[in-house]
Amino acid sequence: MRETSMTTLSQLNDLAYNYWWSWNQDVWNLFSSINKEVWAETRNPVLVLKNTKDLEASLNNEDLKKKVGDLHSRLVTYLNRKDTWFAKNFANTKGPIAYFSAEYGIHEALPIYSGGLGVLSGDHVKSASDLGIPMVFVGLFYSNGYFTQRINEDGKQLDLYGKFQPENLSLTPVTTKNGEALVFDLELAERTIKVQAHKAMVGSSELYLLDSNHPANSEADRLLTAKLYGGDREMRISQEVILGIGGVKLLKALGIEPAAFHMNEGHSGFFQLERIKNAMKERSMTFDEAKILCASNCLFTTHTPVPAGNEAFSLPLMHKHFFKMIKGFNISWERFVELGIVPEKSDYKYFSLTVFAINVARFYNGVSELHGKIAQKMWRDQWPQVPEVENPMSHITNGVHVQTWMALDVKNLLNETVGTKWEDELANHDFWKKAGDISNSEIRETKVALKAKMISLVRAQLKKQLKENNESQKEIDAVDTYLDDKTLVIGFARRFATYKRATLIFKDLKKLEALVNNPERPVAFVFSGKAHPQDVPGQKYIEEIYKFSRMPSLKGKVIILENYDMNISRHLVSGSDVWLNNPRRPMEASGTSGQKVPINFGLNFSVLDGWWREAFDGNNGWAIGEEKDFANDEIQDYEDAMDFYKTLEQTILPLYYADKAKGENGSSAAWIEKTKISFVTNISRYSTHRMVQDYMTKFYAPAIAYGDKYKNNGDLIKTYLDNRRALKMNWKAMYFTYVHFDGNHVEVPSQFDKSWKSPLHHVEYPAEVTFPGRVFETNEAHIHVGTYLGDLKPESVVVEAVICDLKTDEVKTEKLRLKGPLEDGVGHFELKFKANDSKKIRFRIYGHDNFLVHPFEYGYMMWY
Ligand SMILES: *Cc1c(COP(=O)(O)O)cnc(C)c1O
Repeated sequence: MRETSMTTLSQLNDLAYNYWWSWNQDVWNLFSSINKEVWAETRNPVLVLKNTKDLEASLNNEDLKKKVGDLHSRLVTYLNRKDTWFAKNFANTKGPIAYFSAEYGIHEALPIYSGGLGVLSGDHVKSASDLGIPMVFVGLFYSNGYFTQRINEDGKQLDLYGKFQPENLSLTPVTTKNGEALVFDLELAERTIKVQAHKAMVGSSELYLLDSNHPANSEADRLLTAKLYGGDREMRISQEVILGIGGVKLLKALGIEPAAFHMNEGHSGFFQLERIKNAMKERSMTFDEAKILCASNCLFTTHTPVPAGNEAFSLPLMHKHFFKMIKGFNISWERFVELGIVPEKSDYKYFSLTVFAINVARFYNGVSELHGKIAQKMWRDQWPQVPEVENPMSHITNGVHVQTWMALDVKNLLNETVGTKWEDELANHDFWKKAGDISNSEIRETKVALKAKMISLVRAQLKKQLKENNESQKEIDAVDTYLDDKTLVIGFARRFATYKRATLIFKDLKKLEALVNNPERPVAFVFSGKAHPQDVPGQKYIEEIYKFSRMPSLKGKVIILENYDMNISRHLVSGSDVWLNNPRRPMEASGTSGQKVPINFGLNFSVLDGWWREAFDGNNGWAIGEEKDFANDEIQDYEDAMDFYKTLEQTILPLYYADKAKGENGSSAAWIEKTKISFVTNISRYSTHRMVQDYMTKFYAPAIAYGDKYKNNGDLIKTYLDNRRALKMNWKAMYFTYVHFDGNHVEVPSQFDKSWKSPLHHVEYPAEVTFPGRVFETNEAHIHVGTYLGDLKPESVVVEAVICDLKTDEVKTEKLRLKGPLEDGVGHFELKFKANDSKKIRFRIYGHDNFLVHPFEYGYMMWY
């Protein structure tokens, strides 16, 4: 690049139009130094460039020019890296991978996110760029964004909507090769609308945002994409059609041919229909063939363990939007509806986008280990014969983009202590052990600075709120006495969905009052969060906390800030000493806000749900409650609240104030030591670098390979469909005809005495793998199993022994070998099996072919 001839202005433009700036706080300081007011007001570099008078003249400053030049060359170096993680590990893998999501949290100046799901997508975009993974991201441009929240003098949430002009953001219009705005037609119910798009560069990741706000559309259609999660069901389905179907149309118009697809939540799932339509047309395929082809390189990630949180549409609404398209597929409407049907109530049916997504993808995951298990259970009906613990629903635990959520003060500290190359080591656990050697005094100094910044934001924001609510000057002035850096501050901020139980700590008000008013060991709480405009109970929680915060006994000790966004989030996760997370287990699929805390030397105090259940090691923070299930919400809430008070009073506060007796104020040495443990144990494991690497290795690379195989070999699709059809036609007749053992010292279990059982008996399957087979002791067992296969080819099934070691509880499986040709449809299988200890054993048979993504994906399984 000809850097030397570039003017400072064009360098500034480059910096402003790549969201690389959103995780490089040095760039914020630069833009703030150009125009402090505009920056403070908007935190938007494009508006700084647009709204600074005599910009060019003000750039005539050697110091500034140098700063711009330095940052610009950092950006250029970043964009031109050749030795990325992807380049090193996947040199022969071709992309790109297309990722679809309804929301993205890149920065508060682009308010197209509502909470954790969006921030996760945004962090995914950024880590993909850091790792050099070729990805394109597709979303919607919400010109009114998500709502701006006010909390009025009665504690009521008011939902206000701003107006965001794409030309005032770090976006560029998507154009055709000739440079004209790219606009395409999209069929929506009975009409055709125009759709345009804006592009955000996020490092080297491309994020495309679709937008229906085109002058040729009707007023109503122009507003379709205006509000994130706004409007009624009709608007929602329209948005999802624009996102999914429009997204595929856009990529096609741009000549982008993704090698794999990632469906982030069911919202975006309709993209598969457009892909299927294209495959049918371009490859003269049937619907079923095209569906298999399109599924072969598609991953679906589910995020919602709350059944009601899973998107579903009524059948008439589906009919209105898809009947015509499905007719063109030459399948019956019923066949299509079956791909998404969940009979929720007996007389009412919904089309579930989660069920649909499972049916049109071949890779599936939840977002933490526990959530993976919950998702296996929730969606087990998709593979009803397979024990839920073994079904294809997998998991990858969420993470956060460290450079976005780590405060600049901490980054500077790392540069001085662990070296300036730490950004290349974010997923390297061993590297981070050396952070344990950073001196306590440096950490304390850094944390005090972060806490001061948080307190100053909290006070300023609170004063603004009080002013807007016409409070007295006395009340407003009092805010300057709220919080101080010697008081333990606990943060709680996230969406106010009721399962997150924002009001849990108020369960026993007397206990809380005693804790916050203890002059020896004071503690204060800062809350913030929006409730969805239609979530009345969530809004009630806001009102309750607001009212508590006004009680004389809690004033200044319990604070609630309005309009939670990524800016408030950054301040709270970096400034708080402790991060509180008390969802009703197991409803928090992962949670990510707590992952932003250890990297800023804070500590988590959380229910053992989602990510924290994996991360908590007894030493790096605290747990609320135990890992157990409750039959009753009230008992659960009560027990968790009591445990919260107990741990706070008996463990957390004494540790924080441990050095007070020695005359030291603020956090103790032991506290700082604990924050280091928290830092070292969490930073690499819960970063999106680790997460995106996992996605690449576990899903994207295999999906790309599968997609290639299926694309280049039409026979594979036919084999898959033929096998599935044969399994379906023969499965009810399939049964075990005999099981024998021979060999030394074999105790033949009585259950196996009878070699003949009625087929019906075997149609049962266990809800989980249990091992009712009998114990036997042997050196070598020779096992013979016969199965009646009817018309099925023996290579279409696997006969397998599931063996459980009684001492260790370890389970392993051994495939049986076919002994010879079938006899009257009976296959004879055998296994020679060494067993020195007592085992329990069962046999199963399941549908198989050589090209499955998951061994049980056909779903056919029968047990002996
Ligand atoms: C990180 C983040 C979240 C996620 O919070 P959870 O506690 O995981 O629900 C939500 N909103 C914002 C603005 C965030 O930055």
